[in-house]
Amino acid sequence: MIYNRSIILLLLFGLCIFKAFGQKKDPENQKPNIIVILTDDQGWADVGFNGGTDIPTPNLDRIAAEGVIFSNGYVSHPYCSPSRAGLLTGRYQARFGHDCNMPYTGENDASIGTPLSEKMISEALKEQGYRTSAIGKWHVGDHPDLHPTNQGFDHWFGFAGGGMNYWGIPQGPLQTILRNGKPVPENELSYLTDDFTNEAIQFITKKEDQPFFIYLAYNAPHAPDQATENYLKETKHIEYGGRSVYGAMVNAVDNGVGKIDSTLIANNLKKNTLLIYLSDNGGRSQHADNKPFRGYKGMIYEGGIKVPFFMTYPKEILKNQHYDHMISALDIFPTVLDASGANVSKEKQLDGVNLLPYVKGTTNKPPHEALFWRSVGGFEYAARIGDYKLYHRANEKNLMLFNIKNDPYERNNIANDNSVIVQELELAYEEWNAKNIPHGWEDPHAENVLKEQNQLNAIRTKALPLKKN
Ligand code: CA
Repeated sequence: MIYNRSIILLLLFGLCIFKAFGQKKDPENQKPNIIVILTDDQGWADVGFNGGTDIPTPNLDRIAAEGVIFSNGYVSHPYCSPSRAGLLTGRYQARFGHDCNMPYTGENDASIGTPLSEKMISEALKEQGYRTSAIGKWHVGDHPDLHPTNQGFDHWFGFAGGGMNYWGIPQGPLQTILRNGKPVPENELSYLTDDFTNEAIQFITKKEDQPFFIYLAYNAPHAPDQATENYLKETKHIEYGGRSVYGAMVNAVDNGVGKIDSTLIANNLKKNTLLIYLSDNGGRSQHADNKPFRGYKGMIYEGGIKVPFFMTYPKEILKNQHYDHMISALDIFPTVLDASGANVSKEKQLDGVNLLPYVKGTTNKPPHEALFWRSVGGFEYAARIGDYKLYHRANEKNLMLFNIKNDPYERNNIANDNSVIVQELELAYEEWNAKNIPHGWEDPHAENVLKEQNQLNAIRTKALPLKKN
């Protein structure tokens, strides 16, 4: 009798252990893992899934097709630093004066950058029990007080500044690869894009029970143009040398994202992982391809702010979707926060919108009535409402108006024939801008941008008319 009871108790105990073990290890019953992959200065047409044909991006194309591709996915600024400030806080960066790149003196000045008083995605997800990692380029606060480990990230591997050579050779405090604040010896680094991928894989495969959030900000394909042989052989068909190297840098990202995807599959994590991929601004003027859009990084033409952008979440979002209403990088914060089970309506500071009901088809309404941009010291700005976009170039007296649906290249300025619409958009911009504060420091690009615009205008003015025969 005693013998029998012992066996039953033992069996029950075993069952409890099995159940507890089973629940703990079932990744589908947990909160979703979240990965935001941000590339740097990658152009609209520098991925196959947007119609690019010369740079091979087979992994990105395959993974993008497993979720939703955004055909009107915008970032909130055409330069690196402010765009990241908007993404990480879910707020227009002009709300806290971070609407231009930072001067290089920032490493000694904790007032330059996104202030600690702003809540970042990492901090909101930590409240939801996530372990958090920032990998790659930071560029929203050069001063050590503003580094990722002070902004809600448990783990950080990367560099603080805006650019870095791909071999990890230290070149000052902003261009040194750090792991949780300590310099990483050069002999532990290979090719930075691969190093960032490997660090992300290590973080994913840590045997811990908490869900994870990874902000993986590759500096590729930002300058300098540096690539390894294995990636260069993938773009040897590109005859223009600059683009061939640039393409190899993009291919390295594609390879990395493919490896991360394989890791998720191998660890049975893919179904319950929400992955978002985008570029921080439009493709740079050299070597990138923003076709069919006008302009490039630094401009508020579509080529400077419309980026490759997709989201996958196999457990919740159907594959093979294209979403055409305009969305913003500001939407990432509320979207991932909602997926984590948090009550997004409590985060009243957010300017973004939770995209999940929209991509799941719960509602057909557009997520945004309007989007706004403010750049170059605040005297360059744009507003898009519906199909219309108002754009004020820094050195131009006159406002431009485009119908983005009919004229996606922004070739035909229709401001003169639509004064009422111009007025309406200008008023909407002023109302939006009234809630912003002035930029917190001098814009290091303003002078060059104006110089470039004025040089081009001078050439256009002096150009000779065609001689008549
Ligand atoms: Ca950038």
